[in-house]
Amino acid sequence: MTETIVGLEIHVELKTESKMFCSCASQFAKAPNTLCCPICMGLPGALPRVNERAAELGALAGRALHSQMQPISRFDRKQYFYPDLPKGYQITQHAYPLCRGGYLRLPETGRKISIAEMHLEEDAGKIIHRDGKSYVDLNRCGVPLLEIVTEPVLSGGEEAAAFLTLLRDTLIAAGVTTGKMQEGAMRVDVNVSLRQDGVRPGPRTEMKNLSSFRAVRAAIDHEAERQRALLQRGESIPGETRRWDERGGFSVSLRKKEGEMDYRYFPEPDLPPLRLDVHRIEKMYAACPELPESIQMRLLSMPGMTPDKAAQLARQPGLLRCFDTAFAAAPDAKKLLNWLLGDYRAIARKQGLDPAAPPFSPAQFACLMQRALTENLSYQETRTGLEEICRTK
Ligand code: ZN
Ligand code: MN
Repeated sequence: MTETIVGLEIHVELKTESKMFCSCASQFAKAPNTLCCPICMGLPGALPRVNERAAELGALAGRALHSQMQPISRFDRKQYFYPDLPKGYQITQHAYPLCRGGYLRLPETGRKISIAEMHLEEDAGKIIHRDGKSYVDLNRCGVPLLEIVTEPVLSGGEEAAAFLTLLRDTLIAAGVTTGKMQEGAMRVDVNVSLRQDGVRPGPRTEMKNLSSFRAVRAAIDHEAERQRALLQRGESIPGETRRWDERGGFSVSLRKKEGEMDYRYFPEPDLPPLRLDVHRIEKMYAACPELPESIQMRLLSMPGMTPDKAAQLARQPGLLRCFDTAFAAAPDAKKLLNWLLGDYRAIARKQGLDPAAPPFSPAQFACLMQRALTENLSYQETRTGLEEICRTK
């Protein structure tokens, strides 16, 4: 039997006002090259300084993912040349990352997806190709990133997408990132290899910078198939970096996979080791709302709940509060879901209300649901009651 083995590297933009090592604003879609300074462009003599807020958000993400924050971490230089990286190197964390270990448990299957480590780094700029010319925009240089590296434990495109969805929801709920995929706030590199009959996995191929979960899923499944076909023909699988063509639904070889030696990592001489206060991170974590993993595990233990509905509630705190309050008064998950995700949504659409933020209070909704249950209200009576509490306030 041939198993597909997938590991992910996820770059998450941290939600800060300023960049990782300077005070330039960290914003999307401003006029090109208006948000950069000698520090984020790495001009000679410029000295970086760590954005403490970014480091704290990274550690908070680690806490949310059950990862161990390291009391001391360190920055390293990763050398490579690219036109959108004028420094000629990226400041990242290599030997001593911010957090080690961790996991997220997929509520639907109960599978624990292990995380190897998480580190802080800076983003590069952007190259724009237009009318046969190439332009460079350095606004994104130095934007704070958290890179999350999973163990190679995911079983294919579907599980990778489920993990990424939960990861994104978790980091948004913790206030670590905007999670806006269309603005590149989350970018995914996938590593795919095959394992035959439980022996050592074969060489892996990497596809970088996928910007939608649909692309991640398609790229992984396509790559696993391509490798299977090579093996069946008795050919070997070269370890390489490939480019996923989302429109065409195929990948092409870019280059032989670079080894660690190629980057010539060494300790960043301009930055001291990073020390964070564990108590401060614990305080930030305590101030977070209940996170999606825990919400979904809790909801899924209720009869009548489906993984999809649990995920929908976890993503919409306003609806979840109504659900939780009403469940205490009228513990029929299936009915409550029908009213909240079915009827309320329909009413919201008709009356131009926000389907995620009902105009009624959790107590009002709970009261109606309790009456429906104890007074045996008909569907029409309950519906009228719901329409009424949509008009109050
Ligand atoms: Zn700057
Ligand atoms: Mn990286």
